[in-house]
Amino acid sequence: MLSYRHGFHAGNHADVLKHLVQSLVIEYLTRKDKPIRYIDTHSATGGYSLEDDFAKKTAEWKEGIGKIWQKPDLPEALSDYLEAVSKFNNNNQKLKLYPGSPSIAANLLREQDRLSLFELHPADSRQLARNFEHDRRVRVSQGDGFAGLKSLLPPLEKRVLILIDPPYEVKDDYNTVIKSLKEAFKRFAVGVYAVWYPRLDSEHSRRFGHKLEKCGAQRWLHVTLDVRGNNTAGMFGSGMFVVNPPWLLEQQLKETLPQLTSMLSETPDAGFTLKTHGMD
Ligand code: SAM
Repeated sequence: MLSYRHGFHAGNHADVLKHLVQSLVIEYLTRKDKPIRYIDTHSATGGYSLEDDFAKKTAEWKEGIGKIWQKPDLPEALSDYLEAVSKFNNNNQKLKLYPGSPSIAANLLREQDRLSLFELHPADSRQLARNFEHDRRVRVSQGDGFAGLKSLLPPLEKRVLILIDPPYEVKDDYNTVIKSLKEAFKRFAVGVYAVWYPRLDSEHSRRFGHKLEKCGAQRWLHVTLDVRGNNTAGMFGSGMFVVNPPWLLEQQLKETLPQLTSMLSETPDAGFTLKTHGMD
C-alpha cells in the first residue's frame, strides 16, 4: 500500500521540526573537512510546489513554514534551514517551493560528501532521480529504505547522518524502525541516526517515543513539538529521536524551541519536550 504522498504535507509543522534538526546536525558535521555520507531511507521527491493541487488541497505548509517565513528576530539556529529553503526558491521573497530532506541535505553538504537516497514509490522515486540527475554526489535507489540502509552499513565514511522518515501509514513501520535501528547499531554504532515520528492520539504513536528511548542507543536526544494539545484529532505534533547527536544540538534546541513552538502553536496548550541521555 503506497497511498502516502508527501506533497500533501510538505512544509507543515512536522517538516519544520524535522528539517531544522536535520540542518543543525549537518551544519555540525560539516565543521571538519572530512567527507560525510548522508543516507535518507525515505526520501520522497526532494522538492514540492506550494502552488500545485497537492499543496492547495491541504495547505498544511501555511501552518508550518508559512508561519516563520520572512519573520523578523528568529532564533539563530533556524538560519541554515531557512537559507536552504530560500535557495530552493532562488532567493525569492515569495515562498513558492519547499525542499524535501534530500534537497536540504544536498544544499548544506559539500563537494566531498555523498548522498544515498531511497524511495519506494515508483513515481516519487522517478521524480527524485530527475531532481538530482545533474548532482554527481547523489545516488538514488528505488526500493525499500530499511533494506537499503542495511546494505550500506558500515559505510566507508566515519561521519554519517542517517535520516529515517517513514510515513507510518502501515503500523509495521513503528516496529520496523526499532528493528532497523537495533540491526544498524551492530553494524555501525557511531552514526548519527535521526528518526522522525508523528504524534497522534493512538496507542502505537503514544508508546513509540518510549520504545525509541529503550532501543539500545547509548547517547540520544529526543525532542517533541506539539502545535495542539495531545488529545486532539489528527497529527497534533511530531518527534525527532537523534542517536549520537552533536553535543551542541541540545543547547541550540533549548534556545530555539520556546519561540518556535509559540510561532507554530494552534492552541494555547501547544508545547515541547527535550530530553537527552548519555550526553555527559
Ligand atoms: N524525508 C522526506 C522529507 O522530509 O522531505 C519525506 C518522506 S515521506 C514522510 C515518506 C516517504 O517514504 C514517502 O514518499 C513514501 O512513498 C516512502 N516510503 C514508504 N515506505 C517506504 C520504504 N519501505 N522504503 C522507502 N521509502 C518508503
